[in-house]
Amino acid sequence: MRLLAKSRLNKNATVFVRADFNVPLDRRGQITDDTRIRLTIPTLQHLLKHECRVIIGSHLGRPESKVPSLSLKPIAKHLSTLLNQEVEFIPELDQQSLTKAKSKLNSGQVLLLENLRFDPGEEANSPTFAQNLAADCTLYVNDAFSVSHRAHASIAAITDYLPSLAGLQFAHEFSLLEHLIHQPVRPFVTVIGGAKISTKIAAVSRLITVSDIVLVGGGLANHFIKADGFDVADSYLEEDIIDEQLSAADPVSLAQRMIDLSRTERMLLHDYIPLPKILYPIDVIATKSLNRPDQSSIVPLTNACRLNQELKFVDIGPKTRKLYTQVLLQAGTIFWNGPMGVFEIEPFAQGTAKIAEAIARSTGRSIIGGGDTISAINSLNMADRFDALLASGGAALDYISGKTLPGLEPLQRKT
Ligand code: ADP
Ligand code: MG
Repeated sequence: MRLLAKSRLNKNATVFVRADFNVPLDRRGQITDDTRIRLTIPTLQHLLKHECRVIIGSHLGRPESKVPSLSLKPIAKHLSTLLNQEVEFIPELDQQSLTKAKSKLNSGQVLLLENLRFDPGEEANSPTFAQNLAADCTLYVNDAFSVSHRAHASIAAITDYLPSLAGLQFAHEFSLLEHLIHQPVRPFVTVIGGAKISTKIAAVSRLITVSDIVLVGGGLANHFIKADGFDVADSYLEEDIIDEQLSAADPVSLAQRMIDLSRTERMLLHDYIPLPKILYPIDVIATKSLNRPDQSSIVPLTNACRLNQELKFVDIGPKTRKLYTQVLLQAGTIFWNGPMGVFEIEPFAQGTAKIAEAIARSTGRSIIGGGDTISAINSLNMADRFDALLASGGAALDYISGKTLPGLEPLQRKT
């Protein structure tokens, strides 16, 4: 991969940086967590130290067209505080405005463009829009690994018009994942949870082959529990899914296929208790209503039996937490993506909290990804107790599953 860290920079280079400033905002439009902005600061400082002109592009949210509440203007202000220097901002993305703004920029100055998704050319991967972004620039730096699974103009098409390098944060996230897949310290334990099995199943099927054991929780686990013949009553289950590698399938039979594929493999707990390669909950917390956590109960999953059909499984149970903790404390490497329960409701956050605690206590190297997983960790005030938090959720899973990332491939291509 071509790296910014290893490249000689010409003084006065004009560099287009793709950043990921897609930060959470509250109702008043205030930034509630600036982690993603701070992650790109080292790349920006590196360029400024070399007296480059720096033009930054990012998206924010999923606007269909211009949405004033998703303007990057407040981010320019915040960025100028973080960089301790003025950051110029332009609200228009047309060719004329871009050219004018770029021509005014002196070396060592920073210009932030308006939300790139305000222009339909961004998500359409339009060559014209990419050319407008690239015009008058001499170099492209991608520091948004978290968006590299998107074939968008500022991620993919732009690399056709400029020499392209991976920024410091991009390279860091990439190398974490590369080590995870190719050189994990064993035992390598994967913890996977959350809701959207369709976005995770391809990564899970790869992780089953590269990890020593996969611990499943959250809504994802319901598919495995059902595949194993248990009643899941009114629990969350996803509809049929379509994945380019796995083709169309219903998630319960995909879960069944994974259980079957690894049926003869075992991990040894404490070197003597054999465990199946995929573990899913042996007990769960169930409730008839998310609004009545006080009426929830523990449902053991040892004997298949018919449940009250109003019940929903909303967290992993105490025995499962204990078992998963035992496994995690033995790990050499841990990859975690997806909360263990409906953590937004405090009483159902306990499974997630126990797993976070076990991962933090484990001597294994821990890498954690996923927007909701990171926000669960932040709400537990535990962010500094792990080795690496990935800004990339979907991109990391796509990389793990072996898919081609439109933003990564051009940086690896031989020129
Ligand atoms: P991430 O963003 O970390 O990748 P996901 O987006 O896949 O995670 O999943 C997070 C969501 O999963 C949360 O909103 C959480 O409430 C939900 N969830 C977790 N466990 C369950 C469950 N048992 N039933 C329904 N939803 C669940
Ligand atoms: Mg999520």
